[in-house]
This record gives sequence, C-alpha cells and structure tokens, in this order.
Amino acid sequence: MKVALINIGNELLSGVTVNTNASWMGQQLMEIGHPVQTIYTIGDSRNEILSALNDLWKNYPIILITGGLGPTHDDITVAAMAKFFDTELVFHQPTFDALKERLESRDIPISERHEAQAMLPRNAEVLINNAGTAPALYFCENDKHVYCLPGVPHEMRRLMREHILPQLERLSPVRFQRTLLRTIGYPESKLYDTVKHIVESLPAGYVAFLPQIYGVDIRLQTDDTKKENREHLREVLEKIKARLGNAIYAEKDIPLAQAVGNLLREQNATLATAESCTGGLMGDMITDISGSSDYFFQGFVTYSNQAKIDTLGVPENLIKKHGAVSEDVARSMATGAMEKSEVHTALSTTGIAGPTGGTADKPVGLVYIGCVVGDKIQVKRYQFSDDRRLNKQRTVYAALNLLRLELFAEQK
Ligand code: ATP
Repeated sequence: MKVALINIGNELLSGVTVNTNASWMGQQLMEIGHPVQTIYTIGDSRNEILSALNDLWKNYPIILITGGLGPTHDDITVAAMAKFFDTELVFHQPTFDALKERLESRDIPISERHEAQAMLPRNAEVLINNAGTAPALYFCENDKHVYCLPGVPHEMRRLMREHILPQLERLSPVRFQRTLLRTIGYPESKLYDTVKHIVESLPAGYVAFLPQIYGVDIRLQTDDTKKENREHLREVLEKIKARLGNAIYAEKDIPLAQAVGNLLREQNATLATAESCTGGLMGDMITDISGSSDYFFQGFVTYSNQAKIDTLGVPENLIKKHGAVSEDVARSMATGAMEKSEVHTALSTTGIAGPTGGTADKPVGLVYIGCVVGDKIQVKRYQFSDDRRLNKQRTVYAALNLLRLELFAEQK
C-alpha cells in the first residue's frame, strides 16, 4: 500500500536537524512491502499539518506523521488531528497514569503541561510509548491508517518496532525475504561490474548496492510468497558468493570488527594493537563488540616517537632513518606489540591523517599498516584522502581487513 510521511519540525526545515526519521522509516516500510511515495517536511504549524493531511488523505491509505507531540510543543499535532477528524479532545486516564509513573520514578513533579499531554482525540487509539512521555496515536477511518509519532528518533523507532511495523506488516500483500552481503576491497563500480550479469535476473529494485566507508553492502530481496522466487534468490546468492569469494566478510548486518573477532575466536587466537595515526580508534572498534575480551589482549596508543621507542621497542635509528610513517616502523610497531603481549596476532598503524603534516614524499593520507599472524609479517602501504576522520576510519577498516584475510587464509 502507498505510504506518505509528514515530518514536522522547524529545525528540519532550517537544516539544524537532519531528517533521519524519514530515511529510517522509508527503509523499514519498504522492507515490509509498503513503499514510501511522498514525504512532506513541514514547520511546527497546525495549519501546515492540516494542509498536508488534506493533500494526502485522498491518495494515501497509510500516512505516518512525526513530531510536535511532546510537552515542549503547544500540542499542535494533537490539536490538528482533532480538527482534521472533527472530534474533541478527551482526558485519557491510562496515558496520564503512565506519564505520572514515569515522572515520579525520576522525581520530576507533574505539571499542568504534563496533564495536557493526556488530552487526546476521542477517535484515537493510543499506542504506549515505553521510551518517552508522548504516546503515539493511531487513527483508522474509511480504510485509511494514520499514525502520529514523537519526533525523537529513538522513541519513534521503538514505537514503530513495537506497534506500527507489525500492524502494517499484516496489511501487506507481499512478504520479503532479504539477504545482506557485506563486502570490502571492491569499489562500488568494480563490484557492480563483477556481479552485474548475475543480479540482472532479479526484478528491478530487488538488488541494491550500498557503498559505505568500510566497503559496499549488497542487499538482495525477493517476494517470499512464491517458492520459485525463494529458489531464484538462493541461486543468485550462491553465484555472487562464488564470484566474490573472500571479499564478502559477512552475510548479515554485523560490523567488520565482529567478523574479525569471530575468526579470532574460532582460531583461539589473541590480538594486540599498536596504533599511531588512528589514536585508539582501532581498539575502540574492536572493543565495541561484546565478548571481545575473548581475543583482544591489549592496545598500545603510541602517538609520539618516544612512545614508540619506549613502549614498543621501535629502534630510534629506524625512526631517524625512515621516519615514523614508514614501512619499517609499521613493521617494528607490529612485532613490538606482539612481543610485549605474547599474542598470536598484532596490527599496527602509522600514517599522516592530515589535513596538515604532509610533504612531497609523504603526502596527507599516506598510511602503513603492519599485520603479524604467527610467523608471517606483512606491511601494506595505502594512500587515502585529505579528510582526517575518514583517514582514521579507513585505516582501521583496512587493518582489520588485512588481518581477516590472513586469518581466512590460515583457516584453509
Ligand atoms: P518532544 O517535544 O517530547 O521533544 P516531539 O514529538 O514534539 O517530542 P520534536 O520536539 O519535534 O518532537 O523533536 C524532538 C527531538 O527529535 C528534537 O531534537 C528534534 O530535532 C528531533 N527530531 C524531530 N523530528 C526529527 C526527524 N524527522 N529526524 C530526526 N530528528 C528529529
């Protein structure tokens, strides 16, 4: 069924807040067979809400509205809905009780403003908000479904997951089967050229190439109601996997650090890191994964030359001769981390994150990554961009991928 979104908020129009609600809702609704066809972004004004609803009501069986529900607003959404459906506001005791309980548990005194939040349109079904104070509202009239949700993204998502997506999924004539392949190492255009002949057999819109900083995700889906569709998707999937081999690091929505962590755990291996240009970001990404203490032994952040010498035992003359950003120092950092930690694997990073500090010989974005797995030591040189944050992130992804490929090779 066709869906329209109305996202309310002056801050969305001024650009102060990015309308992430629209993109998240669009993805979720698409996945359950209700593609969003129109998005209105409007200011905090009752008249604008009414005008948007009047525009959309005839053509859209499903309308979702976000924003303007909380106590900081003059109830513009609630008042607009009551006006649109030509009904009055009535006191909703369960909403008041839930609000009171929530506020009292946090020692917040209840005010008139809070009480006003329990005045809701008579024809609305109230959907309890377990993440905030403003409930969501559901209106169903003449086979039209209208939902009003708070603008706060995490509250909106929870209400969508707990109430609205399951309800809408029941109205959907299609059931999707979805698969995600996460790849690293291929630029988007090369990846597309490599698998184009395989995915061409899928209907338009059933395959998407989604480039990210860490690689390109391939999302495949099919209407699951027919057996032949399921089989076709499986065949396509197998062909892509055979073609891309170890460029695929996951077949579900998990980060690269988790894929590497899984390999380390499977191989009973431990890891130490020696970071310079990434300043601890690699340790951060590794320890973002729950259970990483199974394999992550320790991380050294050796930003200065002296720290590399004192902590990792990098020879001073090596730094003098080649500079801190060099193949030799990356190698020495990785072996130093390995020796100090008695682990099976080690990674090191040294580079010029930028935007300052580059020279003709060593431009901004130049990075060396050292990787030790058992007796095998390798150092790779990368040339990234002039964006400091991106350079740090790309360095970590490249390092983790280097280790992943080595562990993968070990497994064979
Ligand atoms: P409350 O008044 O309780 O904060 P509300 O439903 O009235 O909730 P808003 O006041 O419109 O919602 O927005 C609350 C917060 O959520 C603000 O920080 C706002 O920037 C953010 N927000 C609102 N709409 C969106 C959106 N479409 N995408 C991303 N963030 C949003």
